[in-house]
Order: sequence, then structure tokens, then C-alpha cells
Amino acid sequence: MSNPDREPLDITAYEPETLAVRAGIQRSQFGEHGEALFLTSSFVFDTAAEAAARFSGAQPGNVYARFTNPTVTMMQERLAALEGAEACVATSSGMSAILSMVMALLKSGDHIIASRGIFGSTQQLFSTYFEKFGVTTTLVDATDIEAYRAAVQPGTKLFFIETPSNPLTEVIDIQAVADVAHAAGALLAVDNCFCSPALQKPLELGADIIIHSATKYLDGQGRVLGGAVCGRKAEMDEVLRFLRTAGPTLSPFNAWVILKGLETLSIRMQAQSANALELAHWLERQPWVARVFYPGLESHPQHAVAMRQQKTGGAVVAFEVKGGREEAWKLIDATRMLSITANLGDTKTTITHPATTTHGRIAQAARDASGIHESLIRLAIGLESVADMKRDLSRWLDA
Ligand SMILES: *Cc1c(COP(=O)(O)O)cnc(C)c1O
Repeated sequence: MSNPDREPLDITAYEPETLAVRAGIQRSQFGEHGEALFLTSSFVFDTAAEAAARFSGAQPGNVYARFTNPTVTMMQERLAALEGAEACVATSSGMSAILSMVMALLKSGDHIIASRGIFGSTQQLFSTYFEKFGVTTTLVDATDIEAYRAAVQPGTKLFFIETPSNPLTEVIDIQAVADVAHAAGALLAVDNCFCSPALQKPLELGADIIIHSATKYLDGQGRVLGGAVCGRKAEMDEVLRFLRTAGPTLSPFNAWVILKGLETLSIRMQAQSANALELAHWLERQPWVARVFYPGLESHPQHAVAMRQQKTGGAVVAFEVKGGREEAWKLIDATRMLSITANLGDTKTTITHPATTTHGRIAQAARDASGIHESLIRLAIGLESVADMKRDLSRWLDA
């Protein structure tokens, strides 16, 4: 006997904590409680007529996993519910989310305005590949709203920002950039990787599209690659059409891992942010630290904007040691517990030297101009004890 009041969940009637564990569930004929992993590439039909109706779209349902798969659909609906988006399209990685958005929505002759300091591969994608097909990009200083306005051209179709930025945690006023974008008749896409919907809801601040590297906090445990584009249904239908055709689709297994990761997203982000704030305060007091970059600190230049649009300062903390590369490497090499890696968004704290790894390919002059000095260290704070983090970061003083 079916009970229409029970499923599917009316997502407008529930709080984010509830949506994180319950939104998007589709149960099979077996009535399983946990979300099922549908490891199938294709779907069968009862009759030729049904196959024809599914293929034409006259009858809703799954056809082939490059188009849709129930586990992927569950993940998309849960993430859309958390972002407050009409629709979400999952992709094989964060980079393929950006690729799919641009392939679906832009054409030759169009122009992108992007904040300086966006993810390195994003910058490469824009400058090397989109440029090749006649889509040009202007980079502007991330926090200078006038610079966005000044960069507008007749063909400007997309504004693309990332906030907080990597690794210096610059915070961009999303509402202010949305106003400039909309006045220019363009869309604003926000890469919400660093905050996730647990801390920041760009659509509520005027953004049109959200990009995710689900590889980071959405999975949260460093297991799989994944990505997503969220936004209005009309635009997401276009993104899905590109995905169906070109194939950078999310695998059902990865979707299942991310779907379950979303259940703990909010408590992880809160706990990791609290650890980050405590560690940032501690770093500010160390005589060997020259400067700390963390939006949750009152000393952060955009602290007020951050506290207006984010629930916390996030889980990424950067700092400069007094000295240069030698001191920074010495500190990193003396750690025993922190993971020396360029990844972030894991429950395990990671330590990175941006100038020689993630930003190593950028010419030194450009790197210096953007403030990524050789004394800079980035921490992506996880769930370990903060006391253990402090001890690990202090070992170099005895070495
Ligand atoms: C990692 C990352 C990406 C790319 O995501 P992948 O899943 O590695 O393809 C894009 N934007 C930001 C901010 C990232 O940190």
C-alpha cells in the first residue's frame, strides 16, 4: 500500500541537516533503506514501444548510464536540495564540471571575466583550450568590484569566481559581483569548493550557477573524483545535453560515495572550521609566524564580507613563516603526522608549499604579484586533535 505523504520528501519543508541525509532517495522494488548502488551501464524495456518512448523522452526513465543512472540522480537531487538549486548535473570531476558548463552555455566569440587566483587547472582550461575555440578570458583582481565592471565587453557572457580563494583565502563579495554580472547581461558562476553548501549558499547571494569539485569536501574523505554543476533547470538541461553527448559523466560508484559523504558534510565542515579557527588563532601568536590568512580572523582584510556570506571561516588556513623557502620546507619536513600533499577537503589535515607545488608553474614575478611567497604554507584542516596539529607544526623548532 503506498502512502503518498511519505515519498518523495517535500524538500521545501525540511532543514538542510535533514535534506543532507534524506533528500533524493529513490527506492527500488526491494524497499532498501540505504541508498542503492546501481552498477549498470544500461537499462531494459518491456517492449519495443517502451524503448522508443524512453529514447524519445516521451516516457521518463533511465536509458543508458552516460545519460542518467539512479544512484547518480540521487546524488544530484541531494546536492541540489542542499544548494537550493532547481537542478544539478553530476560530472566525472570538478574540471569536467567547468568544461561542461562552458561547452553547454558559451560559444565562439563569447568572453569570460574570472577572478585572479582561480584554481590553476581552471586558468589553464580558460587560457589554453577555450581561447583556442574563440572564447576569451580576462582575469581581474578578485576583491576589486570596479575591476569586474571595467572588464565588461560586448561579448561578456560569464563571470567566474572562486571564494575563498586558494591559497590566500581572499573573500569575494558574491552579491556585488552578481550585480555587476547581471547589469552586463551575463551569468555568474561560483566555484563553491572551499565552503560547500554547508557554509555558503551562492544562489541565495545572486549567483546563477554553482560549480563543485566533489572530490574535496563533498566526498570529504579523499576517496573519489567527482564534480557538479548546479543552477536553474533550463541551463542545467543544456549542461546535461552536453554530458549525454560528450560523456564526462559521474560513475555510479563515485556518485554513491559522494551521496553518502553529503550526509556528514555539515558536521564535518563545522568541526573542521572550528579546528581551523583555533589553529589560526594559535598561529597568530607564534613568534615564528609572519602572517596568517584565515577569513575567520578579525585581522583578515575581508573578514566582514566573509562573516556575512559564510557560516564560518572555512577549513583552509595559510600562513607565512618568518624567512623564506628554507624555513617553510624545514617546518614541513619536520612534521610527522600532517600529510604532505596538494589535496584538500579531507578529514586528514594536509600541508602544502604552494610556491613550489600547486603554483610552481606560475612565473615567479606573477606569483610574487599575487602574494604567493616562498614563505607561504597552506593547511587544509581536518578532524585530528588541534593539540596534535600544533605539536606537529612546532617540531621544526627543535630540529
Ligand atoms: C580541486 C579543485 C577543482 C578541480 O576539481 P577536480 O575534481 O580535481 O577536477 C576546481 N576548483 C577548485 C577550487 C578546486 O580546489
